[in-house]
Amino acid sequence: METNAVRKSPPHLIRLLRYVRPYWPSFAGATLFGLVKFLTPVAAAWVTGEAVGVLQRAGQGVLPPEMAWTKLCHLLFIGIVVTLASSVPTYLRSSIGARAVQSVVRDLRCDLYAHIQKLDHAFFNAHRSGSLTSRIISDSEALQPFLGQALVQGWMNAGVIIVVLAFFFSRNVYLALLSLVLLPCHIFIQRVINWRVKDNARTIRDRLAALAGSTQEKLAASTVVKAFTREDDETQRFSEDSAELIELGIRNSLLGGVSQAVVSTLNSLAPLLVMLVGGYIGIFHSETLSLGLLVQFVLMQGQLYGPFERLNELQLVTANALGATERIFTIFDTEPEVADRPRAIQAPSFRGEIIFRNVTFAYPDNNTPTLIDLTLEIPARTTLALVGPSGGGKSTITYLMTRFYEWQAGSIAIDGRDIRDYKIFSLRNQIGLVPQEPTLFSGTIEENIAYGRPGASPEAVREAAQRAYAAEFIESMDDGYETMLGERGVKLSGGQKQRIAIARAFLKDPAILILDEATSALDSESERYVQQALEDLMQERTTVVIAHRLSTIRHADRIAAIAAGRLVEIGSHDELLQIDGLYANLCRQQYSLGAVEIPETWVEGTA
Ligand code: ATP
Repeated sequence: METNAVRKSPPHLIRLLRYVRPYWPSFAGATLFGLVKFLTPVAAAWVTGEAVGVLQRAGQGVLPPEMAWTKLCHLLFIGIVVTLASSVPTYLRSSIGARAVQSVVRDLRCDLYAHIQKLDHAFFNAHRSGSLTSRIISDSEALQPFLGQALVQGWMNAGVIIVVLAFFFSRNVYLALLSLVLLPCHIFIQRVINWRVKDNARTIRDRLAALAGSTQEKLAASTVVKAFTREDDETQRFSEDSAELIELGIRNSLLGGVSQAVVSTLNSLAPLLVMLVGGYIGIFHSETLSLGLLVQFVLMQGQLYGPFERLNELQLVTANALGATERIFTIFDTEPEVADRPRAIQAPSFRGEIIFRNVTFAYPDNNTPTLIDLTLEIPARTTLALVGPSGGGKSTITYLMTRFYEWQAGSIAIDGRDIRDYKIFSLRNQIGLVPQEPTLFSGTIEENIAYGRPGASPEAVREAAQRAYAAEFIESMDDGYETMLGERGVKLSGGQKQRIAIARAFLKDPAILILDEATSALDSESERYVQQALEDLMQERTTVVIAHRLSTIRHADRIAAIAAGRLVEIGSHDELLQIDGLYANLCRQQYSLGAVEIPETWVEGTA
């Protein structure tokens, strides 16, 4: 089964150009100013050649000294004015060009982030968050040199080459053709080396993303790494992966270096070649070539091969950028499997009746179904506890209710309507989730609680904290609600984090609540607060509790025992003990392990 659909699209570079379109006036302006800047040395070479011509004619007595001096001054004045004036377009080119490039990268990065946010659980299961971060940040960054060089400098260089060649061919066809004699060598070098650079660039980016992924994973789990004393192993692994990356990077730089060395040697040879042949023509057929024109040809070789060299570099930059664009647009082409249906409606305010009817579900890329023909009815405003052995499918049931995944058969309805008929946003907006491991973000406690309802007033946040039995410990902190929490809220205890998560859910005030009970034991005082807060939160809502400690769910309206993806039994605590099936067994197990108090009724029922 396919994890996520990938759509067919036009070539990546063309799609990148769509991001450039809104800024084309800036790119055009920067190119124009750049052309002026690049043509300044061409103008200077022309002025120098003309000046040498004037001096030659003065030396031969063709021009009277005063006239020669005046001509020379005029020419040099033009040269100085052009050179000084070129500083303005040089500045404008850089500032306009940089702004346009940054804007394109920003738009692309924001769109990529927005697209990733829309993707479903299957996608996030398949991609590590560190590798995604690398794509969002560094791949889009890698496009900057390409955009700058391809879209601005590319045209500038092409423009200069055209102007210089037009000048050459209009003055002396033989020398013009001679100037181009080394060009095939340029093209050969580009073709031979660049495909390797492109291949390497893609490998480097892939490895870099993988390294970012594993590094983030290990840093986020530093407690586990330390607890198992694996710091040295992790450092060793990081250093091996980095060394491999550096090796690849060096190999790529070397290839690029070879290409540049050959090209710049050709550039230096070109004026010498022209001087040799031009000198021969000048000496033996002086009537066909003046000294001034020869100087212009020699000096302008740099203005011809320089742009060729930059176009060569552009190919390298393009090759590097291709890897990044490919990876970025592959994500853009990934479509979420779970999406709004064409005629999905805004969900009305839920009463909260949930019905699973004959639901069968297999995870993507998994042939064995995790839920099999599951039928489950949860009346509005009641509590259903899900119990059962690990891996039985309890969490999966809650994932389907929230439409994190698409099931293959059967239906799931809320208030009598299939949840696939509702817009996903309006469905999830009415479901609150208190996860097993609450995740807190970097920011203040107030911001963390308000995550449950953006724009909530400070009073509402405080009321939610009060109801979650969190107000007291928050207010005892120096900065109260303004206390900053680091990544994952490391400054808070497990019980405090859970109460913040419960406060979030209070603030959201959802009609349906999913409670994944914490497995880790809290100290008894925290436990009491958390339990009380949860019981308050469950009032007047439909609640599905994934229960790990059976002592906490004795008063649930109903308990469903799930095993191997099937509903084994359902009923109240007392009813299930009467049946003496899976639930009674689980109770017995937990009791013998000393994990729960002896449920009185169970003792009575089985004595
Ligand atoms: P626990 O009590 O340990 O949390 P559970 O009853 O909640 O377990 P689920 O987490 O729903 O069980 O998992 C049910 C089955 O689905 C397990 O076999 C698990 O390996 C599999 N499973 C869970 N998540 C995925 C996933 N993203 N991709 C593939 N298989 C998965």
